[in-house]
Amino acid sequence: MSDIQRSISRLLHFARQKGLIAPDDEVYAANRLIDVLGVEEYVPHAVDETLETATPVLEEMLDDAAARGLIENTVNERDLFDTRIMDCVMPRPSEVVREFRAHYAASPQEATDWYYRLSIASNYIRKTRIDRNIAWKTATEYGDLDVTINLSKPEKDPRDIAKAKLAKASSYPKCLLCRENEGYAGRANHPARETHRLIPLDLCGVPWFLQYSPYTYYNEHCIILNGDHVPMQISRHTFENLACFLRLFPHYFAGSNADLPIVGGSILSHDHYQGGRYTFAMERAATEKEYVFKNYPTVRAGRV
Ligand SMILES: [Zn+2]
Repeated sequence: MSDIQRSISRLLHFARQKGLIAPDDEVYAANRLIDVLGVEEYVPHAVDETLETATPVLEEMLDDAAARGLIENTVNERDLFDTRIMDCVMPRPSEVVREFRAHYAASPQEATDWYYRLSIASNYIRKTRIDRNIAWKTATEYGDLDVTINLSKPEKDPRDIAKAKLAKASSYPKCLLCRENEGYAGRANHPARETHRLIPLDLCGVPWFLQYSPYTYYNEHCIILNGDHVPMQISRHTFENLACFLRLFPHYFAGSNADLPIVGGSILSHDHYQGGRYTFAMERAATEKEYVFKNYPTVRAGRV
């Protein structure tokens, strides 16, 4: 039992260091943790360490929870449970939005730097897993090509697959992108999103949201999503929205997958774009054909 007490102290220490909680939140966060972890009291332990991510502490807590029968020791149950644990040390959505806006007033880059660090500290982006991805560039006759092998999505445990099959059909949230995911506890066939925090955006007068992809495969891989669950459709609005986003975040790129199955986005039922702080091969490629717009002489467009 003393080990779990030490783990709680370690997590509170980590959350303080990463700015997830303030000193005034510590007792409250400790009490939430003992409830989730099923222990009766909290006995603080001295901690002197600096961790890059919460993973080592969460692993201790998950092993302990599995040993005590709080969870079944499967990947999905562990992922659902460690998200519940991290939620105990998370700021509320309104606090995140307020702080993001305060940083944005200084500079858009300061705001996204802060938000990206938060998304890793909260374990919403599972950095320890993402770091396993393999990425390299390879020279081709068309220019350098980016190749990424995504190893961060864990292999499914047969016990999890069996549970997902038995799970009753649910249409809440409507999809993996809907804003109703914010704070959702997840289930056998839907990931936990208690630590998910969205940033509201105004794109051409319409409510949109900014978030990072939890399965990021390039630097600061963000998703720009419509406030409503409406299907993807490339239209004039797409270009207006992308230009609008770049005015708000000039240090990012923004683009859209095709609104077509297989070759296009993986979630076509919800309008969204991709963005981030990365220069793709497509941006470096030479222009094959340039297009000129008579009424917009300052706009440059081309096919690469
Ligand atoms: Zn949706």
